[in-house]
Amino acid sequence: MTGEASRITIETPIAFGDRLPEQVDAVIIGGGVIGVFSALYLARMGKRVLVCEKGRIAGEQSSRNWGWIRQHGRDAAELPIMMQALRLWREVDAETAGQCGVVASGTHYLASSAPEMAAIESWLPIAREHGLGTKLLSGREVSDLFAGEADYPWVGGTCTPDDARGEPWVAVPAVARLAQAAGASIREDCAVRALDLAAGQIQGVVTEHGRVACEQVVLAGGAWSSLFARRHGIDIPQLSVRATVARTAPMGDFFADKAVDEQFALRRRIDGGYTLALADRHGFHPGPDAFRHFRAFFPLLRLNWKHVRPGGLAPAGFPDGWGTPRNWAEDRESPFERARVLEPPPDGAYLRLMADRFAERFPKLGRPEIADAWAGMIDAMPDVVPIVDRVSAIAGLVVATGMSGHGFGIGPGFGRIVARMVAGQDAEHDLSRFRYARFSDGSPLDIGPGL
Ligand SMILES: Cc1cc2nc3c(=O)[nH]c(=O)nc-3n(C[C@H](O)[C@H](O)[C@H](O)COP(=O)(O)OP(=O)(O)OC[C@H]3O[C@@H](n4cnc5c(N)ncnc54)[C@H](O)[C@@H]3O)c2cc1C
Repeated sequence: MTGEASRITIETPIAFGDRLPEQVDAVIIGGGVIGVFSALYLARMGKRVLVCEKGRIAGEQSSRNWGWIRQHGRDAAELPIMMQALRLWREVDAETAGQCGVVASGTHYLASSAPEMAAIESWLPIAREHGLGTKLLSGREVSDLFAGEADYPWVGGTCTPDDARGEPWVAVPAVARLAQAAGASIREDCAVRALDLAAGQIQGVVTEHGRVACEQVVLAGGAWSSLFARRHGIDIPQLSVRATVARTAPMGDFFADKAVDEQFALRRRIDGGYTLALADRHGFHPGPDAFRHFRAFFPLLRLNWKHVRPGGLAPAGFPDGWGTPRNWAEDRESPFERARVLEPPPDGAYLRLMADRFAERFPKLGRPEIADAWAGMIDAMPDVVPIVDRVSAIAGLVVATGMSGHGFGIGPGFGRIVARMVAGQDAEHDLSRFRYARFSDGSPLDIGPGL
């Protein structure tokens, strides 16, 4: 497998070029994991659906992530949706003859100190309440996970053995092909510039290739959702952080699952390497929204201030860039076309630290050969759980965004929910935690378990 195969970039050839229909039941803005699963389930309900993707399907977060499909450590309100999502991932993997790379893979949270152990243990009552087989591990059991390669002072850990992992850069396009086969139209290089509104009701969308009539729109634009919504007077408090990831060259299979401690994360890949990342370093590039939303994010920043490293002002082309227009004409190029695929560079210092931390934990293996590296912008909400809701100010608009660093695993679950909302069916889950109004109705901020 080549380096390029680790994620989708602007160099990836266009694979979805359906003709724009004149009219559909719903337009989905964004071809990430949320958009494509919403399209799949809507198409299977017999709805006419169009996915507009400004760049490439899964070009942004949805191909750049670690591929963890985890129930472990989830917010209590997300867990039932995630348990269903895991079943749905297995289903689509079977339907695509294994193209999603979904395999059983335990999730391990490891602790190097007693306070950290207490913090990860505090989630166990949620696991028990939902019948998950999550286990406590002693320090010795943790060391035994790594085929004799580990030499590190972990004091213990927690593990959910029946979690899974997938290969994001192949999985999400495979699901998009399933959606197409079910009747969805999908068009890459097709930015939606604006909603077409009449008296507060959606009449259609204006894309860079023309207008499409519809009464419902799903905003699943990841890191761009806030910029898009604000042009229509909808305020979404959402900020992005830059996360750097590395892929090692193929190496011996000393650990088949996925694990994270306070500083370092790794998982086995289907190509025989490991995906590595830092758990305590996220680059942050403040733009105007960072100042506007400072109060909303202050409690989260206070909890995570050590993890968020200012990395200079948001450059041009970022959703919250200083030069990024906040308003634009529908008949002119919009900021979405100017940044078809948001591809922030990986942080070189973080890559060196990753290799050091690998060697610290697995000294006999030493520093691994880094075969490829990239970064992605994680769209975070102030309470680290998404918005999945209708927005009352615009009839016909469903917002599904702000997956806060854990949307790949839960993607099928929220996609199914979005499809049911659009189709006017019961969502079958309690969605009150994900309501849009929670940031403006005086509700206290309830920060979820983490990115
Ligand atoms: C480094 C990293 C590691 C992660 N690890 C994990 C993990 O292990 N497990 C997990 O569950 N999650 C993980 N995540 C989070 C996960 O990747 C995201 O939550 C998820 O992919 C978000 O999906 P999405 O569809 O909401 O957004 P995205 O994947 O960002 O897709 C949004 C799409 O909308 C398009 N778009 C935006 N505006 C417009 C417009 N106006 N017109 C047309 N198209 C538009 C964009 O081009 C983009 O392709 C990780 C994320 C990163 C960056």
